[in-house]
Amino acid sequence: MRRVQHFIDGRLLASADGGTFTSTSPVDNQPIAEVAEGTAADIDAAVAAARGAFDHWSRLDPAERKVMLHRVADLVDARRDELAEWETRDMGKPLALSRDKDMPRVAQNLRFFADWAEQVSTSTYAKPWDQVLTYELREPLGVVGAISPWNFPLMLLSWKVAPALAFGCTVVAKPAEQTPVTASMFAEICAEAGLPDGVFNVVHGFGPGAAGEALTTHADVDAITFTGESATGSAIMAAAAPTQKKLSFEMGGKSANIVCEDADLDAAVAGSLRGIFVNQGEVCLAGSRLLVHRSIHDEFLDRFVAGAESWTVGDPFDPGTQVGPLISPDHLDNVLGYIDLAQQEGAKLLTGGHRRTDGALAQGNYLPPTVFADADNSMRVCQEEIFGPVQLVMPFDTIDEAIAIANDSDYGLAGMVWTQDLDTAHKVAAEVKTGTMWVNCFFVRDLRAPFGGYKASGLGREGGDHSYRFFTEAKAVVMKLS
Ligand code: NAD
Repeated sequence: MRRVQHFIDGRLLASADGGTFTSTSPVDNQPIAEVAEGTAADIDAAVAAARGAFDHWSRLDPAERKVMLHRVADLVDARRDELAEWETRDMGKPLALSRDKDMPRVAQNLRFFADWAEQVSTSTYAKPWDQVLTYELREPLGVVGAISPWNFPLMLLSWKVAPALAFGCTVVAKPAEQTPVTASMFAEICAEAGLPDGVFNVVHGFGPGAAGEALTTHADVDAITFTGESATGSAIMAAAAPTQKKLSFEMGGKSANIVCEDADLDAAVAGSLRGIFVNQGEVCLAGSRLLVHRSIHDEFLDRFVAGAESWTVGDPFDPGTQVGPLISPDHLDNVLGYIDLAQQEGAKLLTGGHRRTDGALAQGNYLPPTVFADADNSMRVCQEEIFGPVQLVMPFDTIDEAIAIANDSDYGLAGMVWTQDLDTAHKVAAEVKTGTMWVNCFFVRDLRAPFGGYKASGLGREGGDHSYRFFTEAKAVVMKLS
């Protein structure tokens, strides 16, 4: 059993009231960590530490912050294997994903924003005819609360923490209660890298009525950057209203993946499989509604189902595993409930759909890739986020129809289109209301680009200059020249 503590003002601490909770591994649902359970008192202490550190940290030359953040990145690289193992034990994703994708992205997030903060500029607005010169100053925003989910635990935490720190803010992070371990390891790394006390703090615990909510209502927190469910975003927005915090939300999705009749089928099948089954389908960006042109529907589906059946489900520490366990028994039940619902609503189960209980898998929360044909976009399973390896497939006849189906959703996070036709690609990209549209690819990211969602999928954007604008406050300085 690992002991996981808060990290406040440079020190590892138990909760003020001594409370703890047990974290289990989805691999076998056995306890792996005893975790400090934060309350409002711990949030108070962390916010005070972050406020105390702010003056010094915010006034450093970005080049000085850059040196420290690069050191943090180097230590993440040095401890990559250990971090990846704990991420997989805590979350269930295949080890190769933790080690070769998530942890390198953590280091990349840190280096990218550390460098970016040195490059950013501001505008001037000259009116020489009026002898007025106006220029913009951007100042670090203050104390930021960073609330993150369990599906990419350290990667998504670093996506918030790296820009916040690089642009001169101090941070109180509240990681997901299901996956607390790597956030604490990251805090140790920050201390080892020489980050001043109080610049980065971690308080563990739950959301509603607990540490998470205390962060969102705290009068001395200037902003909340949150990634998680859309309903949680609404709760945070309401909780933060009395203290009028700046908010940035990255939330749920039900993205459409559109396969056109002229698509490169090999690429479309492989990309679409990844688009729903990677990370057990526990991906906000997943292309969970698969729209296939009627003329290729049957052939595509045959290949897609064969592909789904070839994905190996198993222990995430096994090098051959592509689909690990779902995060918790409750979440597995929730996903199985949607599988029942899909059948009640008239979708046709083509593969998967049943929990794997063979051998050691009986101890964990394993569900194989599951594919439904004959889905209709009005079904609840096509409107609600399932957040598991469940693909709903439906045919379309015209690209306008596919776009209309894609837009018939409360969400607008991502989308994919597979086509060889430039006009079709541009039309879909322009007309689908979504934060990211991938053309003939999936999951490719440029960290300078805006990231976020339309509608219930997000509020604001992060990435590159978008993060710069979020984590800084703009000031207009107006000078009358004589
Ligand atoms: P969640 O909303 O249940 O929890 C996310 C975080 O919010 C956790 O740290 C939790 O403790 C905290 N929280 C919950 N209620 C709170 C409250 N009332 N006040 C303050 N904090 C609170 O989400 P989850 O189940 O951890 O993650 C899955 C969800 O995240 C899915 O909907 C997924 O689509 C979404 N997600 C979105 C993105 C994106 O970039 N758009 C990325 C990953 C995950």
